Amino acid sequence: MQKAELRKLRRLDATKEMMQKAKYKITVHDRYEDEDTQIYEYEAFIRIQNLGAYIKIAIFDPSWMRANCTGAKFEVFLNIEGQEYITRELDQEGNEVKWLTAMIYNLLEKNGLKHYWWQYDCKQKIFANADAMKTLARIPVEHERGYKGIERLQQWQQAVKDEETKRREKAEQKPWDEDMAKIPALPKNFNVWARKNVLKDHFIFYEYSPKKTTTGWCTNCRTEVTVQEPKYNKTARCPHCRAKIIYKSTGKIKTLYAEGYSANIIQKIDGGIVERTFTYSESYRGDPRHPQEHFYEYSRKLLVDDEVKTYYWQSYKNKYVRWCLGETISVAHEGFHYGWYENTILYKGNLKKMDSPLLKHSSYMLWNKLPTRLMAYVILEKRYPVIERLAKVGLFSLAKELIRTSNSEQLKKYSEQTSLADGLELDKFRLKRLKAMDGNLTALRWLQREKKDNEVISDDIIKTLASENIGYLDIAFALKRLSITKTFNYLVKQADAMGESIGQTITTWKDYLSMAERAKLNLAADQLFKPKDLKLAHDAMVLDSKKEERAKLVKKLEKEWPKVDSKMPKLKKFEFAADGYQIVVPNGIEDIVTEGLCLRHCVHTSTYYYDRIQRDESYIFFLRRAENPDFPWYTLEVEPSGNIRQKRTTGDKQNDDFKKAIAFLKKWQKYFKKQLTKEEKKLGVIADQLRQENYSQLRKDKKEVWHGKYAGQLLADILEADFMKAM
Ligand SMILES: [Zn+2]
Repeated sequence: MQKAELRKLRRLDATKEMMQKAKYKITVHDRYEDEDTQIYEYEAFIRIQNLGAYIKIAIFDPSWMRANCTGAKFEVFLNIEGQEYITRELDQEGNEVKWLTAMIYNLLEKNGLKHYWWQYDCKQKIFANADAMKTLARIPVEHERGYKGIERLQQWQQAVKDEETKRREKAEQKPWDEDMAKIPALPKNFNVWARKNVLKDHFIFYEYSPKKTTTGWCTNCRTEVTVQEPKYNKTARCPHCRAKIIYKSTGKIKTLYAEGYSANIIQKIDGGIVERTFTYSESYRGDPRHPQEHFYEYSRKLLVDDEVKTYYWQSYKNKYVRWCLGETISVAHEGFHYGWYENTILYKGNLKKMDSPLLKHSSYMLWNKLPTRLMAYVILEKRYPVIERLAKVGLFSLAKELIRTSNSEQLKKYSEQTSLADGLELDKFRLKRLKAMDGNLTALRWLQREKKDNEVISDDIIKTLASENIGYLDIAFALKRLSITKTFNYLVKQADAMGESIGQTITTWKDYLSMAERAKLNLAADQLFKPKDLKLAHDAMVLDSKKEERAKLVKKLEKEWPKVDSKMPKLKKFEFAADGYQIVVPNGIEDIVTEGLCLRHCVHTSTYYYDRIQRDESYIFFLRRAENPDFPWYTLEVEPSGNIRQKRTTGDKQNDDFKKAIAFLKKWQKYFKKQLTKEEKKLGVIADQLRQENYSQLRKDKKEVWHGKYAGQLLADILEADFMKAM
């Protein structure tokens, strides 16, 4: 319908009869107030013009009419054959305000011309004269009966609108359906494969029997098996298929679900590949031999022409469930990291035979375990050719690290050259060495630096540093004075002496140097820059730099816990040495403070340790290595019975070197028990009780560790794991 044409149509005014009727009032019952009230009889007035192909409906607002305005507020134009309608809004002077597409009811309700029905007994009417009613009766509707006047108009408009929506939805869905038509059938054994490979939970159902041996049903191998003394909810292995199972008694179970991982399959489609994702789960109700299988495909990613379209099986506009297009992303798009590491299991049965050029030219088959989902890998490989080059020469660690850290800038840069050595900013000689050590990104950076500086660092050094991800910047402070070899040898030696990682040793070294600098030590001297015993020098600096603070703390603690020092002499009988280790008893608070400062743990500042010593609940002992008896190593909290509650070293943790000392500690606990008097044994029993009460209180309070390696874990769990009973 042409608006210009519609504007030219003759103006319709309200008739005299209408103008009078606009003022009529009637009595109705107000439902809310429960009383009779007077309202105007008509909500709206309409006049109709029959214009051959078109019908024009003028709608008058009674409030305008009562103000002596005869002009229409709305003009609705219908093109019955063309299935079209449009509305023009006017002001009281007859000027055009705007054009509207609303249906008649919405139009009236929105403008207060039809809304009394919910408040009053519905007696209000829309006035239309007999001619108008006749014209309205001409509007075709599907269900003829019962629709009169403007109800009929509303019905027709709704049908027109529905038809239009249907057309629009069909147009939207057409390309989706075309895409979905490309998806091939699943391999015949796919369901069976999924059932066998993606279920997380397996059960053996058994009938309760007083006999030792009974029969059960394994949900994994779906076989009847003989089981010995099954216990409800206990885990075991199926005697037939060896799968890890949980025992379930059929009598106790109503419904049980076995969850699954998601499963993937890649298939060739016209112009590309599709990645389909499924979930498989099972539920058992009644006879476990007949589980309900829930096989559900929820996404399809189509890779065609450098574009990935993702479809989801979901509700379409809240009407029905179907495949709906989600996102469309260009392969070149940098931020494209969909579900890379999502825990899915790939069906491989169809890959070898698939003659998709995308997979044929991919290096995916070179990997033992792909670092991403297969389609993501294919896309990354297309985008960053260096990935394929790395895989082809076996540099999997480097490729994996670059992919996993989404290091797109590096990937882009390294892809720029067709020669891998050039791309990685290496030469053939260094690329060969990188390959030989299956180097990671840190190793690559060391080799790049080596080439730039035109020197050669031993592969051993690079490999060791790279394994702890120690880069040039981490040790630049040392390299300013020492060669890399000297620096490395020093670090390894000190790390061995401390039983620490190289990374931790670097931290200690830096810590020492900054303290030494503040103390104005002559660091130009080699023996001060790299002290022979770094840990000792570090600890000495700690004590020295904190001399005053330490003295103050010791004084304060001695005042608060006056009996602690006097407890020490009676503990001397527990001192012990064997197998290169030694147990040392502190002389008092001062020694405990020193230990705490050197090891940077909390023993010297946490007053409950002193409280426990004073009450004979537990004592502090030092575990040291015989070659360095003055060198703090591990601090032990020990009960009067010899039970060890806690063992802590630098930064409140335990290192691997400690495992070697466990046999010694057990030996010491035996020796400890032999020294105990009757009185001391009694103290041990009380301490045991107190410890258990403490754990259960911590559990009740849900106390968690806030910092460090154990952050987020329950404190009671950590303490309990640390506990070592004297046997
Ligand atoms: Zn089985």
